[in-house]
Amino acid sequence: MNRENKRKSFEKGYYKRHACREIFTCKLCGREVMPQAVGGAHRNHCPNCLTSLHVDLTPGDREADCGGYMDAVAVWVRKNGEWAIIHRCRMCGAFSSNRIAADDNPVKLMSIALKPLAMPPFPVERIEEMTRLMGGDGVLQ
Ligand SMILES: [Zn+2]
Ligand SMILES: [Zn+2]
Repeated sequence: MNRENKRKSFEKGYYKRHACREIFTCKLCGREVMPQAVGGAHRNHCPNCLTSLHVDLTPGDREADCGGYMDAVAVWVRKNGEWAIIHRCRMCGAFSSNRIAADDNPVKLMSIALKPLAMPPFPVERIEEMTRLMGGDGVLQ
C-alpha cells in the first residue's frame, strides 16, 4: 500500500464514499474474501459465515472502537423484498442491519431465517389446540 492509499483509507468517512476493494481473510472461518464483483456496495460481512466486525456506528463510517465479532442472528425482508441481516455484537450487544450481498451463503441465510420456526417457544403440536381456544379467529374467548 503506498502512502497516498494509506492516507486515503484512514480518512474519516472514506468507506462511506468508496466501495471496499480489499481482499481480506475472515478471522472466524478463514475464508479469503474477495471484493464484491457487482453492485460496488461496501462489504461488511463474510459471505461464508456471515460474521461481521463491530467497526461502524453507521455503515461504512469506521467510527466504532468496539471491534467485537458480530454474529448474524436474524434476517428480515425490506419493503422492496430485499433481504437484510441483523448482526449482534458479542462484545457490547449492539445490533445493526446490513444488506445481503449476491454471493452470501444461501444455506446459512436460510438456516438463520428458519431458526425461530424450528425452535418455537411453545409446543408445535399444541397450535391446533391453541387456535381452537381462540375460536379459530386469533381472538382469545
Ligand atoms: Zn467467515
Ligand atoms: Zn460492539
